[in-house]
Amino acid sequence: MVQEKPIWTILKILDWTKQYFKNKGVENPRLDAEVLLCAVLKCERIKLYTNFDQPLEEDELAKYREFVLRRGKMEPLAYIVGHKEFMDSDFKVTKDTLVPRPETELLVEELIKMNETKGPREILDMGCGSGAILLSLLKELPEARGLGIDINPGAVAVTIENAKNLQLEDRTAVLVSDLYKNLLPDDKFNLIVSNPPYIPTGDMQGLAQDVQNEPHEALDGGIDGLDYYKRILQHIEDFLLPTGMAAFEIGIGQGEQVARLCQEAGLSITTIGKDYANIDRMVFATKEETDYANEIMALRQKKGFR
Ligand code: GLN
Repeated sequence: MVQEKPIWTILKILDWTKQYFKNKGVENPRLDAEVLLCAVLKCERIKLYTNFDQPLEEDELAKYREFVLRRGKMEPLAYIVGHKEFMDSDFKVTKDTLVPRPETELLVEELIKMNETKGPREILDMGCGSGAILLSLLKELPEARGLGIDINPGAVAVTIENAKNLQLEDRTAVLVSDLYKNLLPDDKFNLIVSNPPYIPTGDMQGLAQDVQNEPHEALDGGIDGLDYYKRILQHIEDFLLPTGMAAFEIGIGQGEQVARLCQEAGLSITTIGKDYANIDRMVFATKEETDYANEIMALRQKKGFR
């Protein structure tokens, strides 16, 4: 008897993949299946729904199969499709960069509000990765200019590419540097922002498998997770204007400690803000009697800040 080759229609392959991902423990099995299929077919998700009975071509099947296997091995979805949405822009991401997170959008949104009426700004993003933070700020603050630094040349290349894609290259400079190392003594900034590695080394093994596939050097913040805050704050006075502000994304339970480190570095006005999950996620700090001090004091009165 001649065995008929199964015909893989869009609906059939989505159903199959959903079950496969479920068994593998992928968090959003159906959604991920759809996103991967869209990447192969180069279409919007709505197109899948209006074409459920469409059979896939051999080459499409082969590519999709490869994507599904990679996701089944817990490679982050964003690495497979090559990009990730952040603050309404599409960012290229690679294995050299952390995948931008929704929590980080909260930090960026607050920074936009605090800076949009302040005129020209010089912004430094330490550990810029894909450039998600820096470029989102530059996009919304047309008078601002930015410098992104990262120790990883691969990440620096991705930030440059994203700056070009978002037509922000005129106001963006990028540098390979271990924190301040390759900056010039007269580089001064109104805003120094960082989402540094902050996971305590001992917690690294317990991270979700997807996250374990992201660059460890972008995650591991040393024994207490605070290494980079300490290093950044130790020399911040050399690069932050006296009226400037430091802004950090932080990890679980680090709010008080990072705020204290800021105060020890002379930035005595601080606020700690929470994310969607009610976890301390950001710290802003400045000196007394600056414009930013007023902003920070106002934030402290808002829900989710203290
Ligand atoms: N938000 C990331 C996570 O929870 C950590 C990012 C970082 O270390 N800066 O996995």
